[in-house]
Amino acid sequence: MVDEIVIFWFRRDLRLEDNTGLYYALASGKQVLPIFIFDTTILSKLHSKEDARVGFIHDQISNIQERLHVAGGSVQVEHGEPVEVISKLIEDYPVASIYANRDYEPYGKSRDLLVSEVCKSKGVEFFTFKDQVIFEEGEILTDQGQPYKVFTPFKNRWLKQFQKLQLSGFESENLLSGLQKDIKHSIPTLEQIGFTKSQISIPEKEFPIKIIEDYDAKRNFPAINGTSRLGIHLRHGTISVRQAVAIGLAHSDTWLNELIWREFYTMIIAHFPQVVDRAFKPQYDRIPWKADEESFDAWCSGMTGYPIVDAGMRELVSTGHMHNRVRMITSSFLTKHLLIDWRWGEAFFARHLLDFELSSNNGGWQWASGTGTDAQPYFRVFNPASQTEKFDKNREYIKKWLPEVSTDKYPKPIIEHSFARNRAIQTYKEALG
Ligand code: FAD
Repeated sequence: MVDEIVIFWFRRDLRLEDNTGLYYALASGKQVLPIFIFDTTILSKLHSKEDARVGFIHDQISNIQERLHVAGGSVQVEHGEPVEVISKLIEDYPVASIYANRDYEPYGKSRDLLVSEVCKSKGVEFFTFKDQVIFEEGEILTDQGQPYKVFTPFKNRWLKQFQKLQLSGFESENLLSGLQKDIKHSIPTLEQIGFTKSQISIPEKEFPIKIIEDYDAKRNFPAINGTSRLGIHLRHGTISVRQAVAIGLAHSDTWLNELIWREFYTMIIAHFPQVVDRAFKPQYDRIPWKADEESFDAWCSGMTGYPIVDAGMRELVSTGHMHNRVRMITSSFLTKHLLIDWRWGEAFFARHLLDFELSSNNGGWQWASGTGTDAQPYFRVFNPASQTEKFDKNREYIKKWLPEVSTDKYPKPIIEHSFARNRAIQTYKEALG
């Protein structure tokens, strides 16, 4: 009788430490084969062969591989459709069960449903665990048992419930002796999966404690290095959210608040998956967006003639990052000043942001266009000039990303501010009736 094994499937939890699903797999008593799948459904939708996020994932898996080899194990890395890969693995090995951490976005959920059906038909158990959030779908509800639709009451309930929680980690890193031994799998190269290395550099994985301590005072000024830059690591689980929350608790309530925003948007997409294509507030789908490709191109290439907007777009395209304050200004400009559909901007950000996360990106865009969960009235239109005055007074950020700003190479504004503001308010008013 061959010994049965357990598969642990890495997805957006690319770490050996404090990994819930990995912990339970290793504690199962059966030998564990870790796997990772470069998912062709996801990869085929990417626009550039140099996508830095694929290189980042490849690097993380390679690091994991090195560490597993030291512990005597090995991660098997596949390139294909998850359901097909899993079916094949079940044929190749005596698999008792598959362990993974839960996903909350529509694609991940439908993929896991298919996988669970395949597993069921083959007599294999598929176990999933909460890992990427503190509270998941269905855990933070109103007194009436409904999901929250507004952030502040969600946050208050989250904090209340959190007080009752013992925030303990899962010491998966101490159980590596449970790995399947004596096999060394090789990892396909980036080129073998159709990608090449990007020139864009990835922010450090370490928690910048000093920055987090000063976060409340400095986070709004894009010229200052005042935010953690941990977005990509939270997105791919290269750091644990439990550890992040513990750091927030110890050093900054304001930073903790941002992590709760992340949970809020994860919860929104889990309960209201229709937001992926439509306005959270359905009446806002009546807004007649302009299919103005010329203005959209000017926005994408940082050529609107509004320096703070253009600086942000240049930062995004060249680094894969844009400061949060500037994300708010650029997204407001696209949807309010130019009246261009928030989905166009959302897709452009999705293509470029290293920390792209469907739930937060969608939430951010729906916030900016006023179509989302926020109660802020639509007639508040960000003024790029006064935002600059408040948050980039000395124009340091602008000059960094737009060295030509004071020369005649820099374009005149593509639209006049008060005209655009009035037109936005009028258009929203008419559409909402
Ligand atoms: P910090 O400011 O140090 O915050 C720590 C972490 O908290 C972030 O890494 C992130 O995980 C979370 N966080 C912070 N602010 C928010 C927020 N407003 N909403 C949700 N989570 C937050 N964030 C993403 O992670 N992915 C996205 O695709 C994304 N798209 C956005 C699009 C728009 C239009 C807007 C206005 C905001 C978007 N945000 C997104 C939120 C925010 O801008 C980024 O999380 C933040 O700028 C990332 O920088 P940081 O890693 O230094 O985070």
